Amino acid sequence: DLHPVRRALLSVSDKTGLIELGKALSARGVELLSTGGSAKALRDAGLTVKDVSEVTGFPEMMDGRVKTLHPMVHGGLLALRDNDTHVAAMNEHGIGAIDLLVVNLYPFEAALARGAGYDEMIENIDIGGPAMIRAASKNHLFVNVVTDVQDYEGLLAELDRNDGQTSYAFRQRLSQTAYARTAAYDAAVSNWMASAIDEKTPRRRAFAGELKQTLRYGENSHQEAAFYTDGSNRPGVATAVQLQGKELSYNNINDTDAAYELVAEFDPADSAAVAIIKHANPCGVAKGATLAEAYQKAFDCDRTSAFGGIVALNQPLDADTAAKIVEIFTEVVIAPGASEEAKEIFAAKKNLRLLLSDGLPDPRKAITAYKQVAGGMLVQDKDVGYVDMGDLKVVTETAPSEAQMQDMLFAWKVAKHVKSNAIVYVKDSATVGVGAGQMSRLDSANVAAAKAGRMAAELGLEESLAKGCAVASDAFFPFADGLLEAAAAGGACVIQPGGSMRDDEVIKAANDAGLAMVFTGMRHFRH
Ligand code: 5GP
Repeated sequence: DLHPVRRALLSVSDKTGLIELGKALSARGVELLSTGGSAKALRDAGLTVKDVSEVTGFPEMMDGRVKTLHPMVHGGLLALRDNDTHVAAMNEHGIGAIDLLVVNLYPFEAALARGAGYDEMIENIDIGGPAMIRAASKNHLFVNVVTDVQDYEGLLAELDRNDGQTSYAFRQRLSQTAYARTAAYDAAVSNWMASAIDEKTPRRRAFAGELKQTLRYGENSHQEAAFYTDGSNRPGVATAVQLQGKELSYNNINDTDAAYELVAEFDPADSAAVAIIKHANPCGVAKGATLAEAYQKAFDCDRTSAFGGIVALNQPLDADTAAKIVEIFTEVVIAPGASEEAKEIFAAKKNLRLLLSDGLPDPRKAITAYKQVAGGMLVQDKDVGYVDMGDLKVVTETAPSEAQMQDMLFAWKVAKHVKSNAIVYVKDSATVGVGAGQMSRLDSANVAAAKAGRMAAELGLEESLAKGCAVASDAFFPFADGLLEAAAAGGACVIQPGGSMRDDEVIKAANDAGLAMVFTGMRHFRH
């Protein structure tokens, strides 16, 4: 299954490593064919190259839209070398075999990331490149196809191992990678177009992604895993730069994402905010006059759980906050920047991972979210819903105070990021109890209350931290029991969607307990 590489076609937009590859191939006696820009680069470096236009007998035309789309090229890529009629056709038409195709495509994703206009995006859709890649990939019985600059080195190593030949297994691997590339490319084009079409129109979704890194394992050590970027360049865990610490694990990435998406709900121009996450749920979220104060308040919500947590900041990490964070073991810190002093403080903690991103994730940006189910995939818009003061409807005899309104809105934003059923207690812009992921709302209220009580005891306080708190519920209370549990824990005001069949009962219970309650009219399930 070894086949020699005698003739190569090089046509690349990203010219990184092209000259080195051209030289290495030439030195191994491989004849080089190439398209306009690539040929020029190779020739300028002193290499002997044949233009594809010479091979096809046609000039490159229509602004490069038509360069390689010709039987002299596609015949050379697709012909079965061991098939008599194929070989006869090659001889009859003077088609030379092409054993190696090196292509990287017009940078469509890069154009997307820089926000290019419609016409420029269209011109960045590569046609001849994917056509050649698919032809060469299909014929991997004989042909090598390289679509990634990262694979140049491996190709040369394979040639050296086999005296100028490659093995079938090698070619098959390249082919599989190549189809992943063209599939992701077309998905990026389709999804970009979906974003350009009126939102009301039903749109079919394609699934795009570029491998960012393979991970040591998934959620558990027996699960294989990898991390892909979606080409959007959206600020967040996928595009952040890691400054220090061990490689991120699957769970680290998942939790860091949850932490950053949550803290980004709080406008950094308004105030500093910190979220501490464990197992994708917040164990403390707070706003503060300073970042250090916000961190302390978030930490004080549940010090036990915060150990080994993931910390996200909505402002650049400063020295004061860095000094506080390093007092306990933390897995990851993510922030939109860091001061030099803060970086120095972290540098002493070799295992602490620090991720810095260019800005915060935009919590209002509509994107598509996927979830796998047996035999299929669920696709929905990400939950970018939000309410502000004007959307709230007071339903009780007692109206909340301005301070309570602020705490309720804070609790509501946090509840959106807590697994359902979510009950969140907040006082003075800090969570004091979080009940997550229980199968009944009553249980979640209980869990939040228990945490608030335990933390108060740990801090040596007489009363539960939840005394006088604002209570948020991610969905309506189906019965009064969950509400009454929250009131018993110390809740003074409640924010919830409303809309239950028994709203009247729940409102009456709130009035009897002397609570203030507002309805948002919007639910934030999260599963
Ligand atoms: P060059 O810089 O060598 O002039 O162009 C290289 C780029 O052209 C590569 O990204 C390759 O995928 C693309 N390409 C090669 N043939 C064709 C073609 O026939 N049509 C289009 N639209 N692009 C092509």
